[in-house]
Amino acid sequence: MGSISAELKKPHAVCIPYPAQGHINPMLKLAKILSHKGFHITFVNSEYNHRRLLKSLGPDALNGFSSFRFETIPDGLPACDADATQDIPSLCESTTKTCLDPFRDLLAKLNDTSDVPPVSCIISDGVMSFTLAAAEELGVPEVLFWTTSACGFLGYMHYATIIEKGYTPLKDASYLTNGYLETTLDCIPGMKDVRLRDLPNFLRTTNPDEFMIKFVLQETERARKASAIVLNTFEALESEVLESLRTLLPPVYSIGPLHLLVKHVDDENLKGLGSSLWKEEPECIQWLDTKEPSSVVYVNFGSITVMTPNQLVEFAWGLANSQQEFLWIIRPDSVSGYESILPPEFMEETKNRGMLASWCSQEEVLNHPAIGGFLTHSGWNSTLESISSGVPMICWPFFAEQQTNCWFSVTKWDIGMEIDNNVKRDEVEILVRELMVGEKGKEMKKKTMEWKNLAEDSAKKSIGSSYVNIEKVVNDILLSSK
Ligand code: UDP
Repeated sequence: MGSISAELKKPHAVCIPYPAQGHINPMLKLAKILSHKGFHITFVNSEYNHRRLLKSLGPDALNGFSSFRFETIPDGLPACDADATQDIPSLCESTTKTCLDPFRDLLAKLNDTSDVPPVSCIISDGVMSFTLAAAEELGVPEVLFWTTSACGFLGYMHYATIIEKGYTPLKDASYLTNGYLETTLDCIPGMKDVRLRDLPNFLRTTNPDEFMIKFVLQETERARKASAIVLNTFEALESEVLESLRTLLPPVYSIGPLHLLVKHVDDENLKGLGSSLWKEEPECIQWLDTKEPSSVVYVNFGSITVMTPNQLVEFAWGLANSQQEFLWIIRPDSVSGYESILPPEFMEETKNRGMLASWCSQEEVLNHPAIGGFLTHSGWNSTLESISSGVPMICWPFFAEQQTNCWFSVTKWDIGMEIDNNVKRDEVEILVRELMVGEKGKEMKKKTMEWKNLAEDSAKKSIGSSYVNIEKVVNDILLSSK
């Protein structure tokens, strides 16, 4: 009985990620850290994703933690049985329009339940800012967690400036290809010489009513109303950009890389709690165990990127012709509208030096000594995981702020090389060789190792900047009553 009354005295954080893989992963890590710091946690999934998690992790994987519980709300999209990534603009539209009421009802239910403490704060994904209204009604502080890089977030924060200056909407579709996107901008402090094409790509539209632009404007405007903003990055990596953000927003705390900070959690069961929406294939690690150090290029474009059948084939032949060993993860829904089928000649030629799988434990793969380079879509989690593992990259950004992450990786952090969006096998071959055995690859490796050390410093217990920042968020924001 004593333990129930102790539980009821805990502060209670409700954590609600945007319902996509790249948002659930870092939010779950932050929730584990808060749990370790003495919070009772309610983690809110969409019904669709919760079903998928139970399928990929096992039916009992999310039960059995008295201080860490899962709840669900509908995402507002039509019911769907598939295990596929949902369309992002549709999901943004449905969450922003339909999720506030069920979220409010959930908070009311939690506050009405006798075996959990009253809700004392909300940690919401930055692009689920409708939650601010609920926090205000309850009179509790809300921290917005933007799971983007700081540089990507700064790009979004300046959409209003870009529109005001007339750079977008584009005059007509020819502006997408006539070199206009190469225009250099000087209106974003902290991003000197950034080109239009390096900014989050929803700007590339001729439609003045484009939903994603309106959505970004709404979410960035509302960000100003949060009690604080937290970002999964570290000071040393993005100091200039963070400084620029801090002139625009409520307190901004860098609290990453969360996958390093979560290592301080001492409850092994909680630490092991996963968040993969697809089932991980352990064979990937077994295969890597048979390989020489730094000999394998890892190819993975994350949970959302889709490509054309032609792009798939160009990547395949580029990899084959590079003569390097590779681990290539291709999701069942990686090729838009088609099954992901590779040419039989490619399969035959690479059978002794390539491994294909549909999902893996990426953090484990990137930390494996056999991995020498990463061909990535520059998603922020992937970029941060690669940096923390000391693995240099080839960047093939797909959408959202991946373009900005790519630009910073290539021009500011010196840890990546960009591959043309219109991918050709010869370029893939040349860049993969350069990454794995070339001079540029060696320089990038050295630089990535420097960033890796700084990432580890930021996560050091009691003294790392991100460690200290999490303590500040807890003490100054989450435990302070408004
Ligand atoms: N991921 C994984 N296994 C895979 C592919 C991706 O565990 O086979 C994880 C990866 O470690 C990262 C997340 O899924 O944490 C993808 O997030 P990211 O921001 O890189 O890209 P997104 O999927 O949002 O485009």
